Amino acid sequence: MAPETTAIENRLLLLKIRFAEKTTTQLTALLAALASKQGARVTATEVEDLYQLLHRLSGSAGTFGYHQLGQQAMLLADTIKPTTHATTPTTTPIVDADFLYSLQQLLLLLQQNDTPSAPEVTHPQAAIKNKTQILIIGQELSQLVTALTPYGFTINHCEQPITNCNQCWHYADIIIAPAHQLTTTVAWNNTQAQQHQQQAADILCIGTQDTFSARYALASKGAKGLFTLPVDIAKLAERIEQIGQERRTAYTSKILLLDDDQELAEHYRLVLTAAGKDVKVMHSPEHLLTVLSEFSPDIVLLDVHIPPYSGITLARMIRFEPKWLSLPIVYLSSEQDRDQQIMALAQGADDFITKPISDQQLVNSVHALCYRARTLAKLLSCDSLTGLLNHSHIKQALDHEYARIQRYGHSTTIAILDLDHFKQVNDQHGHAAGDLVIKAFAHLLKQRLRYTDHIGRYGGEEFVAVLPNCDLTQAQPMFNAVCRHFSRLSFHGRKGEFNVTVSIGLAQLNHFPLAEHALKAADQALYQRKHQGRNGVTCFTPKDAN
Ligand code: GH3
Ligand code: MG
Ligand code: MG
Repeated sequence: MAPETTAIENRLLLLKIRFAEKTTTQLTALLAALASKQGARVTATEVEDLYQLLHRLSGSAGTFGYHQLGQQAMLLADTIKPTTHATTPTTTPIVDADFLYSLQQLLLLLQQNDTPSAPEVTHPQAAIKNKTQILIIGQELSQLVTALTPYGFTINHCEQPITNCNQCWHYADIIIAPAHQLTTTVAWNNTQAQQHQQQAADILCIGTQDTFSARYALASKGAKGLFTLPVDIAKLAERIEQIGQERRTAYTSKILLLDDDQELAEHYRLVLTAAGKDVKVMHSPEHLLTVLSEFSPDIVLLDVHIPPYSGITLARMIRFEPKWLSLPIVYLSSEQDRDQQIMALAQGADDFITKPISDQQLVNSVHALCYRARTLAKLLSCDSLTGLLNHSHIKQALDHEYARIQRYGHSTTIAILDLDHFKQVNDQHGHAAGDLVIKAFAHLLKQRLRYTDHIGRYGGEEFVAVLPNCDLTQAQPMFNAVCRHFSRLSFHGRKGEFNVTVSIGLAQLNHFPLAEHALKAADQALYQRKHQGRNGVTCFTPKDAN
C-alpha cells in the first residue's frame, strides 16, 4: 500500500476515535440530565438540544463506520421532531423510560466498534501536471512525434505494438494508436491504470476509414476520437489540448466546506484531498465572504445546521454579491424530508448532498458538481474560438494578480503577444486557415505556460498573458522559445503550406503604480519589437518611457 494511503488511514482512524469520545461525553451528559428529571417537565430547549445531537449523529455516525448508531439516532430524532418547535414547555411523554433506554442503547452501539473506518478512496493524488503527456504507439505514427513536438506536449513513442513492449510504461494522459491496434491498446491501458493506481489514459485513434460503422466500432471499444490520414495536426493538437484540460479540471477542483462538526469536516477534507481536490474547511461562517474572495472555490459545500446560524440564510446572504450569483452552493445535510429539501433549495442553493454519505459517493458527487461548475464558468469567461480567457476576464485576472503583488510583493510579468502580418495570412490563405492558426497558437501557449499563468485572447490576433512569480529574466527565454516553436508549425492554406511568427512585448507588473500602466508598457515593448523585425521578444525597460 502506498505510504500516503496509510497516513490517511491513520488520520481517519484518529478522527473516528475523537468522534466516539466526543459523542460518548455528550450522550452521557444528556442522559444524566434527563434521568435527573425523573418524569418532571422537560423544557423545549432541552428537547431541542437532544434533537440537534441526534440529528447530527444521524448524519455523521455512518461516515465514521457507526452505521447502526446513525440509523438509530435518525429514528429517535424523528420521534421527538414534532415537539421541537413547540413554544410551551411540555411534559413530553416521549422522553420516558423507553426513550432513555433507547438513548443508552446508542452508547452501547458506540462501544461496539463495528467496522474500522478505512478510507474507501485509495488512489493517491497524481501530481498536478501542466503539460499533457502523450504516448504514441506504432512505427507508422512516428511522423506525429515530430509534428506535435513544437506544441510543447511531453511525448513518448513506442515503435512496436504495445503488447510487444514490456518496458514502455510511461504515465500518459492520452494514447494515440493506430485504429487497428485499438483493442490491444485498450486492454493494456486498463491493466496499467490498475497496476499504477492511475486514471486510465484517453485513447485517440488514427485510421484510414472514416465511415459511420468505423466510428461506431471505435467508440464501442472505448476510443475518444478518430483522425484520418493524412492527419490534420492543428485539429489533433486541439483535441489533445481539450482532453488535457478536462483531465486537469479533475485534479484541481477547489471546494470550500463549511460544517461546524469538526471531526466530520476533517474526515470529508481528508477523503476529498486524497481524491485530488483542494479543500478549505471552515467551522463557522463569520469570515465566509473574505475566504470566498481569497480562495475562489469551484463549489461551496454548506452544512444546513451551523448553530446559531442557518445554512439556508447563509446561502441567501452569499447571493447578495453579484459576483457569487453563479457560484454553486451545495447543502450537506442529514435532512431526509424531501419537502424540507425542496424548500431549502428554493432559498438559494443549487443541490443537496444527504448525510450520511459514503466516502466514494462523496467523491463522485463532488467531482460531478465541480466538473459542471467548471464547464459553466468556462462558458461564461472564455473566448469561444480558443478557449482562452476573453477580453474582460483576462483584464480581471490582471487586476487580481496586481492586487496580490501589492500584498505579497512577488514578481509578476505581463506579456502582449501579436501575430505577425496576420492580415496577409487571411488575404492569402483564407479566414478559415487564419482561424486555425489562432487556435494552434492558443494551444501552444497553454502547453508552454504554467497552469497558474493566465492567458487571454485580448482581441483578434492579439493575446495577453499574466505570469505570477516570474520576472523578466525568467519570462524572456520562455517567450523566446514560444516564438521559436510557433514559427516551426506548418499550416495548410489556399496557397499551400505556410508558417506564421509572433511578436511579444513584456513588462514587469510590480514596476508600475497601476496595472493599466504595465499593460501600456508591454504594448510599447511590442510596438518596438514590430519595428525591430518582429518574430521575437522585447522587454520594456524604464528608459523606454522617456
Ligand atoms: P502586424 O505584424 O503589424 O501585427 O500586422 P497584422 O497584419 O497582423 O496586423 P493588423 O492589426 O493590421 O491585422 C490584424 C488582422 O487579424 C486583421 C484581421 O482580419 C485579422 N483577424 C482578427 N481577428 C481574427 C480572427 O478571429 N480570425 C481571423 N482569421 N483573422 C482575424
Ligand atoms: Mg494587430
Ligand atoms: Mg498582428
